[in-house]
Parts: sequence; C-alpha cells; structure tokens
Amino acid sequence: MTTKLLDYSRLCLHTMTTKPWSLEEAVHAYEKAGIKGITVWRHHIEPYGAVGAARILGDSGLRVVSLCRGGFFPASSAEGRQRARDENRRIIDEAAALGAPLIVLVCGAVPGIPLADARQHILDGIASVLPHAQAASVKLSIEPLHPMYAADRSAVNTMEQANNMVAALSSPWLGVTVDVYHTWWDPMLKSEIGRAGKNIFSFHVCDWRTPTRDLLNDRGIMGEGCIDIRSIRGWVEQAGFHGFIEVEIFSDQFWAWDQSKLVERIQQAYLTSV
Ligand code: ZN
Repeated sequence: MTTKLLDYSRLCLHTMTTKPWSLEEAVHAYEKAGIKGITVWRHHIEPYGAVGAARILGDSGLRVVSLCRGGFFPASSAEGRQRARDENRRIIDEAAALGAPLIVLVCGAVPGIPLADARQHILDGIASVLPHAQAASVKLSIEPLHPMYAADRSAVNTMEQANNMVAALSSPWLGVTVDVYHTWWDPMLKSEIGRAGKNIFSFHVCDWRTPTRDLLNDRGIMGEGCIDIRSIRGWVEQAGFHGFIEVEIFSDQFWAWDQSKLVERIQQAYLTSV
C-alpha cells in the first residue's frame, strides 16, 4: 500500500499550472512556497530568451526538471517533417542552455494523416534527433496523450505504444512520461508501467473532472476527480521511479484565480491526494 507524501521534497510545478505568472513570478512564488522543482514551458522562456531564463532559474534554488515540450513530428510533406526535426534540435539546444535534463515530447498528429503513418513519422523523427539529444546530454521522453487528442496532438495514446517506441529505438536517452490524466483509463496501465521500469523519466499528476467541460483546459486539482492517483504513483514507484512528482494542470477556471491561492490548494492536495 502506497503511503501519503509527507513533505514537498518531490513536488514540482509546471509553469503552465500557473500560466498567468511570468517565469520570474513563478520562480519566486514556488521558492517561497517551499516547492523544489520546476518544469518550464517554452512560452514562459520566450520573453527572456534561453540565456536570460537560464539566469533566472540558475539564481533560484529550484531544480529544473524538464522543458515542455518537443515533438509534433508528423507532417504531410518531407519538408514539413524536416522542419519538425530541425525545430526539435533547436529545442534540445534550448534545454541544454537552460540546464533542463529532459524534454517531454508531445509527439504530434495531423488530421488527415493516417495514425499508422503518423506513428512512423514520430518514430523516424525521434530516431533522427536522438544523436543530437545525446550529444547535448538531454534526455527525451515520450508522453502518451489521452486518445481524445489522437486527431491533432498525438498519435501515441497508450503506454504500450510509448514503450514499443522506446524498445524499438533502444537508447538510454529515450524514455517515457507517465501522466495520470492521459493514461488512467488504460486497462494495461499497471503492466505497462512495470514494463517501462527504469525508462520512466517523469511523472505528471492532476485529476479528471466529471463532466470535463473542455478537452484541453479543464483539468482538476488532485483529489477532485476520479483518478486513483495514489495507486498509479505506487506502480510508478514499484517500477523504480522516485523522481519529482510534477503537477501539470491546464484550467481556465484556476488560471482565473489568485495564483498564490492556487499553489496553496495544490500543496494541500499534494499531501492528501497524491
Ligand atoms: Zn503531462
């Protein structure tokens, strides 16, 4: 039986969770709240550039857990696929400049491209950028997305598919991200988490609201939905993952709150419901 978390030593927030805050505001607020990790979304870096953002992060006591996000490999033309690979190489350079050890891949999907073809574009795309990631000492992590995003965000929708890609490319620089929001429904989840083992590079939490009012921006705070987060955390830990637990909540509702109050609520929920 998995026991409650007792402190915030493994807590990481995604800057998207507190989207209205600038990177500077987020860094200061997270530190003040005793949060130890930060996952940075690229649009929070843009106003500063990679060098400026690296300085803000480096001056803080926060650990940069990952950069979100790379991926989006499928495209209908060879030129489009090449552009995607070039963009991913730039993102790898950005992660290296930031001191981010990991890039989360939202692999991509394009309406009209058959899913099997999109998956091949993804596999080929990752294979082509892996040497660049290795040279930069930046790991890549495939995050399967919920099948409701299979049309336009990711053709990789289950842990099994992600594990198969990791097995096919067999590189210590490629692993998987388990996000409870995307995977909680999957009857194969427990066994595929076990199969992923040391290839689990990161772990994301939030909750699934019923009803979900928006497919993208209506995620719940842990404990207010139907996901058995603690059991999934237990499987992930049994598989050997003991890294940061990343709170990633996209929510129009919570972005309208005072973000300090939101962080407080998240910290309470982290101890009671993760
Ligand atoms: Zn995620």
